[in-house]
Amino acid sequence: VTVANSTVNATVTGSNWQTQITLPNGLSEVRARQGTASASILLTLGTGLQSRPPQRFRLVWEAGVDDELRAIARGTLQNPTASTVEAFVVGVRQLTPSVVVRAYNGINVTETANDGPDVHTIQLRPSQGTIFGQSPFDCGNLAQQQTSEVWVGTYRSELVGSFTSWQPMEKTDSLQTRIEDIAEALGRTAAHEMGHSLGLVGSGLGQGCGYMRGCDGGHNCSNLEEQFPGISNRFRFGQYIMDPGEKTSNNARIAEPLRGSRALVRAPAFFNPFNSSYLAAVEPVP
Ligand SMILES: [Zn+2]
Repeated sequence: VTVANSTVNATVTGSNWQTQITLPNGLSEVRARQGTASASILLTLGTGLQSRPPQRFRLVWEAGVDDELRAIARGTLQNPTASTVEAFVVGVRQLTPSVVVRAYNGINVTETANDGPDVHTIQLRPSQGTIFGQSPFDCGNLAQQQTSEVWVGTYRSELVGSFTSWQPMEKTDSLQTRIEDIAEALGRTAAHEMGHSLGLVGSGLGQGCGYMRGCDGGHNCSNLEEQFPGISNRFRFGQYIMDPGEKTSNNARIAEPLRGSRALVRAPAFFNPFNSSYLAAVEPVP
């Protein structure tokens, strides 16, 4: 077994390998070799790990956001009636929270209605700009009560203005399909922004939480895939929730695996194994 240029023997019983190795802090490639066969894994060593306290979150739909949702319905469906437009607003607001709940399933992050010291607030705002959302990056998750933003106006602008870049969406899609598309997109961004406030993804070696080896402004690092091909498994063009926005495909935003056609079942983005391991236990001190 080789780590950082030092090699030790392991006792092998069946598929069980046993040895003692000293890991440096941060990221290491651990390579196991028997004869000419070998396999590698990436390990990240953190210190002072402790259970993350239970976290709650709530979604707040700000004034003006319903009008943005109406504009999305009118601009992405074929001649929707007034009642279809209203049903779209109700449907998206109903479904979006469950997308966030699903993203954090098994990670002790649950939905609540009211603010509190352990509550992260996600505001859905009518804002429009060059981003889909924003959140404070909280290295080490030092504060539980924080606020994220999802900019529904940006989604409206991109969806209506560049509709063809959102394939497999088609204007002939059903109301229910479009409700799911937009709830997936808004819920994914909400989960992503809350992820930043829980401490994902530290970047910049030598800086706080740099051991996470994020890049592109605190996101899953595509460069790591090139550095450790086949074993990094941290970046997937938007299939992972904390992938960078500019490297996330629009079809991944709406939980469609392919751009060319609708899949039989949706493929929602999820936290990569490293991110979900982190969410289960974070370092208390950056
Ligand atoms: Zn981000």
